[in-house]
Amino acid sequence: MVEAYKPNDLKEALELLAFNDCTIFAGGTDLMVKRKRWSGLVPSFEKPVMFISQLQELREVTEDNGMLTIGAACTLSELIDNELIPEHFKTVFRQMASPGIRNIATIGGNICNASPAGESLPLLYALDAEVVLQSSCRKVELPIAEFVQGVGKTLLKSGEMVTAIKVPKSSFTSITYRKVGTRKSTALSKLSFIGLAASDEEGLQDVRLAFGAVAPTVVRSRDAEEDIIDMLKLGSLDISQIIDDYSTLIKPISDQRSTALYRKKACIRLLVDFIINSLAREVVR
Ligand SMILES: Cc1cc2nc3c(=O)[nH]c(=O)nc-3n(C[C@H](O)[C@H](O)[C@H](O)COP(=O)(O)OP(=O)(O)OC[C@H]3O[C@@H](n4cnc5c(N)ncnc54)[C@H](O)[C@@H]3O)c2cc1C
Repeated sequence: MVEAYKPNDLKEALELLAFNDCTIFAGGTDLMVKRKRWSGLVPSFEKPVMFISQLQELREVTEDNGMLTIGAACTLSELIDNELIPEHFKTVFRQMASPGIRNIATIGGNICNASPAGESLPLLYALDAEVVLQSSCRKVELPIAEFVQGVGKTLLKSGEMVTAIKVPKSSFTSITYRKVGTRKSTALSKLSFIGLAASDEEGLQDVRLAFGAVAPTVVRSRDAEEDIIDMLKLGSLDISQIIDDYSTLIKPISDQRSTALYRKKACIRLLVDFIINSLAREVVR
């Protein structure tokens, strides 16, 4: 039998975590797949399970001074319906899983699962999101690129949980998100790409590019983004230089969903398409 805890509030949850080595269970959509056994047998959990989806403190979205704080146990559907959440989030979340899964899958679960195919991650890397970690005695904020250490690996310590994600509420004039998968719905991505750009009357100001499922963690390079901004501002766009830069960063593997060659070629095509069809237009806006 699986021992389970269902704390009433965050304080109780953190106290329970301080004295019990638990598996944190949010929506369970990753956990139930990972722990499944032969048909007829209940999924196997070696440690006690602590449910967190009932914790109100983890289900709130607030905005303060241009900073959005998103509770870790907010479901993807709740975020799609929330008016504080910007459109570029919703574009990504609407393409994740299926309506039934989105109704229970949480943003915190997607981050903590740290799968290279986790589709909220390229967006959160591109936005320089911070992950809020809390235990009974401390609260810290870490950049997402530091929190996620590799495939299924994070800096989450025993006694801690992710309580929120903080993201600056930036606005973008170009938003492109492409999920390349076998089907439109209920398929994990072969790769994903997000391209964001912001321009004003003085021209292009910001570019953010991130790729998912083509390396152990999300591929994003601030240096390469700044080179692209400089090239576009100076009118000296060198596509082959950009392709070379990203070709060294994108290191996909072949697996049951796709081949390394296909993944790399598709990423480069999406990158070039974004630069030519979205960024070039931002420059002449
Ligand atoms: C049919 C199906 C389709 C799917 N499609 C997609 C898809 O298109 N794109 C995609 O990215 N994913 C997809 N997924 C994967 C999954 O739904 C997502 O990763 C989801 O966001 C996980 O959230 P959860 O709340 O269910 O996590 P859970 O399964 O509850 O937890 C996942 C991991 O995170 C830990 N955890 C959860 N919350 C916290 C917290 N607050 N603090 C610390 N640790 C925590 C858990 O201990 C566990 O290790 C799919 C899954 C299924 C079953």
